[in-house]
Amino acid sequence: MQVRAKKSLGQHFLIDKNIARDIVNSLKATNVSKILEIGPGMGVLTNFLLENENYETYVIEIDHESVNYLHKHFPQLKDRIIEGDFLKLDLAASISDQPFALIGNLPYNISSQIFFKVLENKELVPEIVCMLQKEVAKRICSGPGSKVYGILSVFLQAWYNVEYLIDVPEYVFDPPPKVQSAVIRLTANGRTDLGCDEKLFFKVVKTAFNQRRKMLRNSIKSFSLRIEELDAVLLTRRPEQLSVSEFVELTNNIEILLQNGILPNITDVEVE
Ligand code: SAM
Repeated sequence: MQVRAKKSLGQHFLIDKNIARDIVNSLKATNVSKILEIGPGMGVLTNFLLENENYETYVIEIDHESVNYLHKHFPQLKDRIIEGDFLKLDLAASISDQPFALIGNLPYNISSQIFFKVLENKELVPEIVCMLQKEVAKRICSGPGSKVYGILSVFLQAWYNVEYLIDVPEYVFDPPPKVQSAVIRLTANGRTDLGCDEKLFFKVVKTAFNQRRKMLRNSIKSFSLRIEELDAVLLTRRPEQLSVSEFVELTNNIEILLQNGILPNITDVEVE
């Protein structure tokens, strides 16, 4: 019995076991005793995860047919098979309030949402190894100056070291996806404090990249700032040229203006 691939759930099953093994072996799983796999499907990665006795494997799968398949083929997982939506999962309550690693051949249609959820739970997630759309993988791993550097690159690189591991061709999937794939690894960079107000940092980065072709001087006008009070050099640059630490610096500059009452209440600022 095989699971029938459902397009709406981003189901493209990996059929190359060597690549599956390589993906699982890319997980360092240091200082964690649990792993959560997102979207195991028919368990091509799960199979290799279960070979490792250094950690306990949990899986979350939204597709009922796949869940039935997993219960049948991996009875040892028992109640560590969670049927549900990863995006709605209470990670601390369902898996552990101690750090655990994430792995998965992600459903490409929700990969960005998965990363935003990871960011919300970054204290719990020190490592992620995943396969995703090559374009998104490149975006996450690119640095300032690259055309594809963006919001997700800055947010993730603020907290994680990012590594682009391998390209994966279409023909190792059934059915083959229309896009190319790649595997990346994110490892917590040990930072516990950004050095600025985190919420404001998120707003500044989002606001800046909402108009990525514009100089910051123009894009952050939505903050109603007295522009002349800010560092002039930073303002002549475009968001795609700023490193994480320069975004932190910009956020701190903006915060000082806020504290001095030069800015309106920041909660009034609309970002999107
Ligand atoms: N791991 C399998 C493999 O490599 O062959 C399947 C990968 S497939 C690209 C993505 C999997 O994620 C599918 O099994 C799909 O049902 C599951 N999925 C989709 N959306 C999900 C969600 N919100 N939460 C949990 N699993 C999801």
